[in-house]
Formats: sequence, C-alpha cells, structure tokens
Amino acid sequence: ARMRVAVVGAGVSGLTATKCCLDEGLKPTCFEQSQDIGGLWRYTEHVEARRPSLYPSVISNTSKEMSAFSDFPYPEDFPVFLPNAQLLDYLRRYAKHFGLLEHIRFGTTVVSIRKQPDFATTGQWDVVTEADGKQTSHVFDAVMVCSGNFHEPSLPLHCFPGIEKFQGQYFHSRQYKHPDVFQGKRVLVVGMGNSGVDIAVEASRVARKVTISTGRGSWVLSRVFDHGYPWDMVFNTRLMSLIRNSLPGPLSRGLINFRVNQWFNHENYGLQREKSCLVREPVLNDDLPSYILTGRVTIKPGVKEFKDNSVIFHNCPEEEPIDIIVFCTGYNVSFPFLEEAIVKVENKHASLYKYIFPTHLQRPTLAVLGLIRPLGAIMPVVEMQARWVTRVFKGKRPNMSSPPYQNAVQTGLVFSVHQMQFQFGLSYDEVLKTDCLVYMDQLASFIGAKPSVLGLLCRDPQLALRVFFGPCSPYQYRLEGPGCWEGARQAILTQWDRTLKPTRQRVPAESSSSCPSLLTVMGLLLLLAAVVFGF
Ligand code: NAP
Repeated sequence: ARMRVAVVGAGVSGLTATKCCLDEGLKPTCFEQSQDIGGLWRYTEHVEARRPSLYPSVISNTSKEMSAFSDFPYPEDFPVFLPNAQLLDYLRRYAKHFGLLEHIRFGTTVVSIRKQPDFATTGQWDVVTEADGKQTSHVFDAVMVCSGNFHEPSLPLHCFPGIEKFQGQYFHSRQYKHPDVFQGKRVLVVGMGNSGVDIAVEASRVARKVTISTGRGSWVLSRVFDHGYPWDMVFNTRLMSLIRNSLPGPLSRGLINFRVNQWFNHENYGLQREKSCLVREPVLNDDLPSYILTGRVTIKPGVKEFKDNSVIFHNCPEEEPIDIIVFCTGYNVSFPFLEEAIVKVENKHASLYKYIFPTHLQRPTLAVLGLIRPLGAIMPVVEMQARWVTRVFKGKRPNMSSPPYQNAVQTGLVFSVHQMQFQFGLSYDEVLKTDCLVYMDQLASFIGAKPSVLGLLCRDPQLALRVFFGPCSPYQYRLEGPGCWEGARQAILTQWDRTLKPTRQRVPAESSSSCPSLLTVMGLLLLLAAVVFGF
C-alpha cells in the first residue's frame, strides 16, 4: 500500500508538500482549516482567527523568477515583483496544474497529532481532525507540518512601560488593512521589520507625522538593484555565493556592508544595525530612504516609556506626542496540535535538524516545513525541503531504504547539537547564517538533485555559464537527479526574457538597430587580441 502522509495546511508549503508526495508515489491528505488554498497569500478584508492577515498593498519581496516552484515558472506577463493577488493566482494555477485540489480537505482543522503506541516500530501518527464540529481520528504513516508562522501576533506589551496609561489607540500590524486610520494623526510604528516599514511609508501619505522606533536598526534594500535588475537575481548567484563563502568572515561581512551601503549610508539615516544582529532579515523597501530624506518618516531608537499622549525614546530626553501606535513586533510560532515534547519552540529557537526534523524522534516521520527565514524567496526553499522529506519518508520502509536517507541519518549523527548550531543555527527567526543557496544545495545533494557546474561545462557550456554566473533560479534543481524536469534548461535560458517582458513594453523602432552592440565589438576585439598574442 502507498504510504499515507498527512499535510497540515494548504498554503505555499502545504501545496508543494502535497505535490512532492504525489511525485514520490506517496498518498497525501492535506487538511486545510479554511475553505480555500493560499494561506498567507489569500487576502481577506477582515482579520480571521488563527489565519494570517495581509494588508491589501503587500507585494512580494522576491522576484518571480526566484520565487517560482522549480518546475512551474510564472507566466511571462506577470510583474517581476508580485502583488499578493497575483501570487495567489500563481498558487491556484500550480494547484490546478498538478491536480492538488482533490487531495485537500477544506474546512478541516487538525486538532491533535500524537504518536501511535507502536511508534518506535511503525513511525505512525494518530491525527485527529475536526470538521463541522465533528472529530475524526486517522492513522498516518507520516506527517508534514505546513501550518505557517504568521497567525499568532507577538505583542509584548510588558516590554513597553507605561503602555497602560496611553490614552490613544494602539494595535498590532496584523490588524492593519488601510491607511485611512492614520488620517491627520501622529503615528508611531514600533519595530522595523518589513511590516513596520511598509505601514510607516503608507501611513506617511495621510498622517500628520510618522515615526519608526527601532531598537536594532536594519539594512534596507531596494527591489530595484544594480542597473535596475531585481535585487535577488543579482545577489543570489553561485558566483556571489562562492565569493561570500570563500572570504574570511570579517572580509565577507565588510563586502556585504559595502554593497548594502552603496544605495545610501545607513548610518546617516539612523538605520545602522546593532553589531549583535548580523543575521537579521533585511527590509525591502524602495521608498523609505526618500521618505526619510523628505521628512515624511523619522527614525528613532527603541521605546523607553509611554506617557498619556506621548512617548520617550532611549537616549532622547524630549517627549514626542503621538496619537496612534502600530506594534509591528512580529509573530510567535506555535504548533497547538503537537505535544511540546515533539517540537519545542523557545525564544524563537526550535530543535530541528536542518530546520525540519525534530532531533529526538526514534523515526523521522514528522517534518516541519517553512520554519526558516531565508535571505531570498521561501517557495523554492520549502519545495526543496519537501522533496528531501518525502524521500526520507520513503526510506523508512525497509524494503525501500533509500541512500539519501541513510546519508541524511549519517550526517545527522556526526553533527553534535553544538556543531549544528554553529553550522546552521537553530534560530529560525534569523536569516540563515549560511547562504540560503548553500542550504538548498545541501538538501539537493541529499536527493541527488544538486546541479554539477563542472559536469554541465563539458556537456552544455552555455547552460553552465548561466547556472554559475546567472541568478540561482529554482529550475537549476530540476536539471538532474530524481524529479528532473525536461523544461528546466529552457526555463533557465529564458528567465531574463520573462523578467524583462512585463517592463519592456515599449521598444522604439530605431532600437532594433542592426549595428553590433558595444559588447559584441569588445568581445570580438578580445578574441582577436587572444589570437594575435597567442602566436
Ligand atoms: P518581524 O520581521 O519579526 O519584525 C518584528 C520587529 O519588531 C523586530 O524586528 C523588532 O524590531 C520589533 N520587536 C520585536 N519584539 C520587540 C520587543 N519586545 N520590543 C521592541 N521591539 C520589538 O515582523 P514583521 O515585520 O511583521 O514581518 C514578519 C514576516 O513577514 C517577515 O519575514 C517579513 O519579511 C514578512 N513580510 C513580508 C512582506 C512582503 O513580502 N512585502 C511584508 C511584510 C512582512 P526592532 O529591532 O527594529 O526594534
């Protein structure tokens, strides 16, 4: 019989988990508590309990070529960075294309997941679900937890002395939908993650004054990077990753520091990061520096104390009057359906091997997906996690013992907890200490899907050059090994066409000149020089 896998949630992770199960011949059942797919990316006008909540202006921080699932590129006419509705549209197309909907049970909440009594030998789980007020118990051979990390707001009011005296209005960013609440008000945004900066910029168009309070500061990057190319297509290349990882730590950090400060000097804008948080997720915002420069947004240190109608910041003697506070203080992660002993989350740390497998289970039949913050798109990362996990699940059957799983177990055994912490860090809240490309390559090598640039150089030099120098797009992980996709090569060769298509809508007649480009001329001159001096 096919192995039965319970997938909890039908957002980005749950959809790709279901698809990977099908690819590996497993039998997935995906439980989704709401009536539709999309998770975080499905906008609703009202905040719903136990569901993430977006504001309507959210646009993806990563470009479409880097945010694709590896065998399903975005349509070429989609914009480079995706408004939330278009991202959801893509997820719908993905679910339809791979026939995922028939494996999803909507309106069904997972209430508990417990080990079966004979877990040590079978690795099976007892999964209790609830639909229409009725509970049902099922037995599954494995579980993929894809329940998301952005539905339980973290509102640490105890960290803000005097908040109980504050006479104005305050709320968590999860409650935010439209900027009209800020009309004519003096707004304080607490916390400088992506939500905080998005909301501050939006508020400043209607508010009387907007201040962001940040304890730790943050790097701010623009989606529009070098020469107007998307930041992640320039930043996440194999060449760049090699440079970053080959240089000694301080030099590599210095290089990143230099690059990040090329757009504007963070220190001059009061945004420089605390030394202690080197691995914090950067903020992606094209407007913030110009809004600071034009006085629409002011940056202040952490909050020391609130008064009736004002705030006092650390190291600032004067009080600042405020009318409304938005706490953009992030989210807590919890798995209410799991026993604490299985995945213990403490201080934003979870003991998960490769951020996936609980480290102490006798059998690796439960995996947590998407509990990481990569410096890049999450979609290809969770997809790679799911590809590895489904292979590991298959390996648990003695008659199907797969080498990648043995490999994974061996690696797991050589790493001590300390080494794991050192190698990958167990804190899921920090951007991976190692490159996300390194993380992806490692998981890919477990399943035999890591592209070999040298091998490609012999077989297909044009592709090899694109793979090494170009953006490390997800299609690279479908060139070889299990699950290889025949469209992968073409998807890589055409990734820039799909990127430029939506922006290059106006091509004046004279630009299609038949004169050779400067680059071609230079290339030919170089070739000539090589031939001449070669003799
Ligand atoms: P976040 O990235 O977790 O940031 C929360 C911030 O709150 C912290 O960085 C910290 O800022 C502040 N904070 C937390 N605890 C605090 C405390 N006790 N006292 C004072 N300040 C505290 O949360 P988020 O901005 O809501 O983002 C959540 C996730 O959604 C992120 O991965 C983000 O990238 C993503 N997101 C994406 C988009 C997009 O794609 N367009 C938009 C929004 C969010 P300071 O250190 O500055 O004080």
